[in-house]
Amino acid sequence: MSRILLNKDNLFYNLELISKKATSKDKVAVVLKDNAYGHGIIEVAKLSKEFGIKKAVVKSVEDAKKIKDYFPYILILAPNDFNNYSHTFHIALNTLENIEKIPQNSNVHIKIDTGMHRNGIAIDDIEEAILGLSKRKVNITGVFTHHKGADELSTSFFFQKELFSKAKYKVKEVCEKLFLPIPAFHSCNSSALFREKNFEELNEDFARVGIATYGYLEDDLPFDFPKLKPVMSLWASKMATRELKKAQSVGYGGKFTANENMIVSTYDIGYGDGFLRLNENHNYTTPKGFRVLGRVSMDNLSINSDEKEVCLFDDVRELAKIHNTITYEITCSLKESIKREIV
Ligand SMILES: *Cc1c(COP(=O)(O)O)cnc(C)c1O
Repeated sequence: MSRILLNKDNLFYNLELISKKATSKDKVAVVLKDNAYGHGIIEVAKLSKEFGIKKAVVKSVEDAKKIKDYFPYILILAPNDFNNYSHTFHIALNTLENIEKIPQNSNVHIKIDTGMHRNGIAIDDIEEAILGLSKRKVNITGVFTHHKGADELSTSFFFQKELFSKAKYKVKEVCEKLFLPIPAFHSCNSSALFREKNFEELNEDFARVGIATYGYLEDDLPFDFPKLKPVMSLWASKMATRELKKAQSVGYGGKFTANENMIVSTYDIGYGDGFLRLNENHNYTTPKGFRVLGRVSMDNLSINSDEKEVCLFDDVRELAKIHNTITYEITCSLKESIKREIV
């Protein structure tokens, strides 16, 4: 059976670096959306709690329910139903239209659009949002924004930062006028957190950290950042071994042909499990130096090894390059049906 191993030491190592940068564990919200970027939402929730993280960010109410016992504070980014919220759940307000759907006593974080133009309300609508929410007796517990390019050498990072500080100013002004408590402010994802020279000076309540938790930041960032350790490795088990004779080929299309007699085994993982398809145009070598031969099938692939179990990767950067994508997509693609184990 194929399986995903989660390296607890590496996760703790990353969380330690992240907490230091954010000045404390209390200022870190671990992002667990999309099954914790494919790592397993329950497993990562458990470990993060054990490390001492108290806040989590998820996409949906269903996900928040799965991890409610691990965190006293959960932010839901894309709430789809506005009922039955627990007092530990905080829901994002992504558009003014949702104000009237939010029940009394819910906790809400207002999302501000500072330039990504995906979700969130305009700075000019802050007063309307706060008035509308407080009229409904909703608790405004947070105000946040999201960077579109904190990992790129463009000015958008600074531009959005500037806009968000204007938004914070406006929020404080309106809340003071209405005698409302000042909400928590947060704007940093992984790369923004590490791009900030001094997080403390930003004066925010926490950072929302996804990819760095799992051990990755893009390699070509326009600022210095610490080396993190990938948490996930993917393993597959041998199904069959044979000798491939010289000039015989293996797999769909017969795209790998042996130059000489060689040992070849089939392992039980394929693109159906979310291990994105490799083919004759890619050379991929496993950490131990074995090659993936020819085309990856739906449920299996061939490797020049006869080991009982092989490690397909313990770092997905090489695969991300081959597939012309980002590390996020490689790990997120792995299906929930693969067993996750903590080591
Ligand atoms: C996914 C997401 C994050 C985490 O981003 P990383 O780059 O993985 O750190 C933070 N905030 C929001 C709103 C997100 O959607």
